[in-house]
Amino acid sequence: MAQVSESKGLILFSRDYKEKDKLVKIFTESAGKVMFFVKGIHRPNNPLRTAVMPFTEAVYIGNFKADGLSFLNSAKAVEPFRKLQEDIFLNAYGSYILGLADAAIDDHVYDPALYGFTKEALSLMNEGQDGETILNIYELQIMQRFGVALNWKACSVCGKTTGAFDFSSNYHGVLCQEHWPMDERRYHADPRAVHFLRMFAAISYDQISKVQLKPETKQAIRQTIDQLYEEYIGLHLKSKRFIDQMGEWQGILKPKEDQKE
Ligand SMILES: [Zn+2]
Repeated sequence: MAQVSESKGLILFSRDYKEKDKLVKIFTESAGKVMFFVKGIHRPNNPLRTAVMPFTEAVYIGNFKADGLSFLNSAKAVEPFRKLQEDIFLNAYGSYILGLADAAIDDHVYDPALYGFTKEALSLMNEGQDGETILNIYELQIMQRFGVALNWKACSVCGKTTGAFDFSSNYHGVLCQEHWPMDERRYHADPRAVHFLRMFAAISYDQISKVQLKPETKQAIRQTIDQLYEEYIGLHLKSKRFIDQMGEWQGILKPKEDQKE
């Protein structure tokens, strides 16, 4: 990899290193994921302090190394995703999105498409679009980066594209109702969930404002994606466990949503 002196980037995570320093992992647009050493970050007037906060995009300037630690010297055009920094729910969804981005590709792999997709997801959440829906779309579409390609387009047996569908692991894709008997061990998922998963697999984020979901439908989508991830990805991120727990106390803390759909 060529040494790059600056790149746009999204903070993936940071942790303290000794007393005054930090290790900061950044998903850069130009050089993939890079681990940076930041010296003296805890000095009160260090201008990098805000630039390495979670949920921040900036142009990061430093010495980018192809392996080992890189060194961060300064940053400009610092744009915090404030709502994600402040709202515990959005914070959780955003953390999981960044965790998936970190898990899906190796360090130093140039992937500007995934960078753009990840940034768009965080930006839309920050603008007030529905966090769970943004996360679900992200989860479905990033499966491909884990090497998993599923057929959501049409029945895997007959090619039908309308009606009720279920997911079949045998076919790595959907089956129309007529062909459900072809796989007794299909997911037996809620057809509404599969309907939205088919949509989410193909949708782009600029269409997201058209998607309005009832809480029960969201719940069914969550279950089916969990089943897919358990079977195909097998990843157990701490940020996802937090979302699972959140589901239990969300009803108490969150203002009641309007009934939509
Ligand atoms: Zn069929």
